[in-house]
Amino acid sequence: MHIAVIGAGVVGTTTAQALSQRGHTVTVIERLGQAGLETSRANAGQRSYGAVYPWASPAMMQKALPWLMQRDGPLKMRQPPSLTTLRFLFATWRYATTPGLFDENKKAMLRLGVYSRECFEALEDTFELEFDGNRAGLIELASNEDSLTDLQAKAALLDEMGIGYQLLDAEQTYALEPGMARSGALKGALRLTEDGTGDCHRFTQSIAKVCEAEGVRFLYGTEVTGVVRERGRLCALNLNDKAGATPEPLAADAFVLCAGTASNELAGHFGIRVPSYPVKGYSLTAPLTDPERAPRSTVIDDQYKVVATRLGNRMRVTGFVELAGYNRQIPERRLETLRKSIHLRFPGAADLKAAEPWTGFRPMTPDGPPIIGVGGEPNLFINTGHGTFGWTLSAASAQLTAQLINGEKTALPLEAFRPQRFG
Ligand SMILES: Cc1cc2nc3c(=O)[nH]c(=O)nc-3n(C[C@H](O)[C@H](O)[C@H](O)COP(=O)(O)OP(=O)(O)OC[C@H]3O[C@@H](n4cnc5c(N)ncnc54)[C@H](O)[C@@H]3O)c2cc1C
Repeated sequence: MHIAVIGAGVVGTTTAQALSQRGHTVTVIERLGQAGLETSRANAGQRSYGAVYPWASPAMMQKALPWLMQRDGPLKMRQPPSLTTLRFLFATWRYATTPGLFDENKKAMLRLGVYSRECFEALEDTFELEFDGNRAGLIELASNEDSLTDLQAKAALLDEMGIGYQLLDAEQTYALEPGMARSGALKGALRLTEDGTGDCHRFTQSIAKVCEAEGVRFLYGTEVTGVVRERGRLCALNLNDKAGATPEPLAADAFVLCAGTASNELAGHFGIRVPSYPVKGYSLTAPLTDPERAPRSTVIDDQYKVVATRLGNRMRVTGFVELAGYNRQIPERRLETLRKSIHLRFPGAADLKAAEPWTGFRPMTPDGPPIIGVGGEPNLFINTGHGTFGWTLSAASAQLTAQLINGEKTALPLEAFRPQRFG
């Protein structure tokens, strides 16, 4: 079969690889000049297989207001919020307050995370991928007793799902992260032992290279602008290239929508709904000045909700969940909060003056799980809406999508990820 994949982010490229692995002819259409330049560009670098959770969380609903009021709080919203933002928040509230749904979705996402670790390891073992990758676990800090109690409460579900973890006291945490300053408050931590790190952008480009070597064709600088139907059946994509020319429509037997935050808009051409919202975040990537004082792996600081991740000889600091639509501005005060968190936990580790700032948009569904499944017609497949965990979940989502297209039995039930669940 000839399969057209829309989007060369981490989700589109891993999907293309999973399809070419099964012998399909694959064309990837990407509006930018290379793979992984949009949301997959400079995220927090966590492969947090054991820490995935749905966005529509009852606990988040309780914390949202206090977080919005704090100057350095992790949640921000443009004032006044747009109608789109309010609609998205209302849908989130509805899912968060549906009895039992959070627990069901959380288990479905954790199963996807565990399967993704397996699929990721298979990719790492099969190909020589260069992405500053590490499998040294993920540490979530507790700076006070309440945070510690929250972390301890996660143990039962981790046990039930067979996910490896350690509850650490402060000394054990410093032993695992010896570069961390002792001046910040620390009561203990949760370590997810099987999680990992790496540079998602470099990973995406490495997978794109693997795909090219396998014969996958990438049409960079080419935008999908519409669809062509013959006798009611989806048969081709309308394209625009960088020069504004309109190439011939690209005919294919099947189509996969992996366009990240743009999937929402593109879905209209296919006559389906992908109700994702672009949840903004920020990162700083800085060269290390003193590797001994840098994180060894990845550390989530509960005070600012900022993530510090080691990526080879660089450190990436990431934070914020901001509801402001597509606004690519990077306000200095957001970067200031990221720097404060680093001064607290890893002072002197990196040259923050030389740091590269970035902003990106998480393709977030109102409930939280990604959208994986058959779209409005039999030859349209959706693999998008991975929100905060797109890199973590990409390897599994790609395999599940390829299994569906191939008519194989899927490795996991897809009920929680159905495109039709939004009504
Ligand atoms: C601040 C921040 C921190 C994050 N941290 C983590 C983390 O630590 N771990 C993790 O797992 N995830 C993290 N994420 C989430 C993760 O980065 C995303 O879920 C993931 O990158 C989404 O990948 P994608 O391929 O779906 O989207 P993208 O990477 O955005 O790719 C979609 C591609 O489709 C292309 N496209 C769109 N429209 C068209 C069109 N019409 N024609 C052709 N091409 C088109 C775009 O140009 C783009 O390249 C973070 C996100 C942010 C913002």
